Order: sequence, then C-alpha cells, then structure tokens
Amino acid sequence: MVPIQMVDLKSQYLKIKNEVDAAIAHCLETTAFINGPQVKEFAQNLEKYLGVKHVIPCANGTDALQIAMMALGLKPGDEVIVPTFTYVATAEVIALLGLTPVMVECDLHTFNVRAEDIETAITDKTKAIVPVHLFGQCADMEPIMALAEKHNLFVIEDTAQALGAEYTFSDGKVMRAGTIGSVGCTSFFPSKNLGCYGDGGAMYTNDDALAQQIRMIANHGQSKKYYHQMVGVNSRLDTLQAGILNVKLKHLDRYAASRNAAATYYDNAFSGISGLQTPRRQANSTHVFHQYTLMVKDGKRDALKAHLEKNGIPSMVYYPLPLYAQEAFKNEKYKPEDFPVAEALCSSVLSLPIHTEMTDDQLNLISTAVTGFFSA
Ligand SMILES: *Cc1c(COP(=O)(O)O)cnc(C)c1O
Repeated sequence: MVPIQMVDLKSQYLKIKNEVDAAIAHCLETTAFINGPQVKEFAQNLEKYLGVKHVIPCANGTDALQIAMMALGLKPGDEVIVPTFTYVATAEVIALLGLTPVMVECDLHTFNVRAEDIETAITDKTKAIVPVHLFGQCADMEPIMALAEKHNLFVIEDTAQALGAEYTFSDGKVMRAGTIGSVGCTSFFPSKNLGCYGDGGAMYTNDDALAQQIRMIANHGQSKKYYHQMVGVNSRLDTLQAGILNVKLKHLDRYAASRNAAATYYDNAFSGISGLQTPRRQANSTHVFHQYTLMVKDGKRDALKAHLEKNGIPSMVYYPLPLYAQEAFKNEKYKPEDFPVAEALCSSVLSLPIHTEMTDDQLNLISTAVTGFFSA
C-alpha cells in the first residue's frame, strides 16, 4: 500500500503525467515564462468553469485577498469582518493594509461564519465582510449577501479551500463559491483542491470596473506599459503553473467526486461512534472536502491523534488557535468567553487524510484505527 499522507500529490501526478509533462515541455519550448498564452487560456477556462465574467490570475491566494481589498478602495481605519476560525492569510492582509480586522464567531457544525454573528459586529466603520468557505463548503451566502446589501458592504469571498463548491439560493439559483460576492479570491497552492506545482492564485468578479482595477493593481498599477496610475504590486501566475492548471482543471470535478467518496466512507465508518462528530453537510451547498474534519469529544483529540500516529496515520489540527489568540493579532477587545464555539473547535478538531487518490485499503486502515481507539 502507498504510505498514507494527508495529501498524495505524487500518485495524483502519475495518473496525469503525460498531460502535465506535455504542458510543461510546451512551456519550456516556447519560453514565454511570464504572461504566456497559457495564462490567458487558463483564465478563460476557469471563467467558463465558474460561470463568472472575469478571472484575474495572480501569484498566490494571499496576494489575491490583498489586491481585492486594494481594488475595492478600502482605506486605513475601515473595518473588515472576518471569521476567527480560519487560516491566517485572511486576517493578515487586512492588518497589512492598515485596515481593522473584526473577528467573529463561527458555526459549531459547519465551521463557517454565520450572518447573525456578522450582524452584531457591524459598525458605521464596517466596509467589507470576508466569508471564508472553510474546509470545502460554502458559508451561508444568501443571508450574508442580504446583510451586505442592507448595510452597503463589500463581500470578499475567500474560496481558497472551496473552489468548485456550489451554493443554491432559495429561489433555486445555483452559483459557484467565489462568484456570489463583490469578488472571490482563491489559491492554487499544491495541496488545495485545484493545486499547481508551486504558488498561484486568482481573483474573480462579474464587475467590469472592479476587474479592470484588479488587473491594474496586480500589474504595478499600470494601465499602459510604463504609465503607472497608482501604486500597485507585482503579482502574476507563472506560465508554467497556468499550463499545469489547464490540465488539472479538466479533472477537478472528478477530484471533488473522489474526495466526496472518501468523506462518505468516513461518515459511514464513524456513524456509531458517540465520541465523534462528523462534518455536517449544509443543505444549500455542495462540499468539495478540502478537509475532512472531525470534532473529537471529551478532550480526547490529542490522544486520538497520538493513537493514529502510532499506527502510521497522519492527521492535522486545523486550526489550533483562533486568530484573536495569535500573538500577531493580540487585542484586548477579544475575550475567549465571547468565542465559545471557536474555543471549543480549536481544542477538539482533527482533520483526517483526504485527497483524490485514497484507496479503499487506506480508508479501511484509517477507519479501523479510529474505531479501535473508541472501542478500546
Ligand atoms: C491557503 C489559504 C489562503 C492563502 O493562499 P496562499 O496561496 O497560500 O497564499 C488564504 N485563505 C485560506 C482560507 C487558505 O486556506
């Protein structure tokens, strides 16, 4: 059996080796390493896949968030609402731009931000909301969009973990994660659902003027070569990575199906274990299972993790600390007692291996080890 890993990029590569190698070779032969035709081709392919007007590729997901916030004209002092239970990048760029991150609680079962928690955090300085579609499932966007409309706020969707997930509105309309708010931001970090072989990212929007602004900021603030309208950044997706992403995008739906099959296997295997809470599927969102995250009850998370490790099975804690408890974001306005859900999650969540190449043997071994821990 292939050793169990959180993500198995090697086995995945071997299955599409011919296509990927050809794309890389083509790039080497044509040497258009920066802004080659593959970049534009990828942007168009992703526009079609997402059903969005503009995809603007950039260097990584963190840049995508930063450029989006710059393009929306957010200014120092503006407040931006962000979940406290997420990866650091989301809040980091807010602070870096001199904006004020305002952290909010999340839902115990879906791990996502909720409109009611966002609403209590809105002040007259609030300018934007950043819902993160955590672990592969959409935050509940309909009430969040209603709130944004009511208070005239921008919505920046962090879809780094949920590219491809679909959200269904109450009128039956279906939209892909990241295409609902003002702008969507994603990452093509190798372990993400659509990962390249290095760093990469993108922003998407249906707003023509915003798209133009984003393109300009990502390209040194220039509208025309050597004419700089504003201070921008240099953030590009390499041609080589775009070539690889063009190949992998064709497999993305199949990859999501493999991840769902693994998740269903785990759900079934753990359904009788009262010491575990399996991840809840929201009725109005599909799940692309960037992570399969359990809540381990009764303070047994670390013991289960150690037990799995003894059996050669990796697992990870996403995330061990709420963002407000990170040294970088220390601020006395945040009190742990105001965030009981985030506190509970950080001490009880455990993510199991989930990727596109899991075999039944591996799933069986992992499930047996988990089940064994609870029946011992
Ligand atoms: C990975 C990730 C990012 C940042 O992406 P990079 O490409 O690593 O900069 C941002 N937000 C979330 C939720 C992520 O998981």
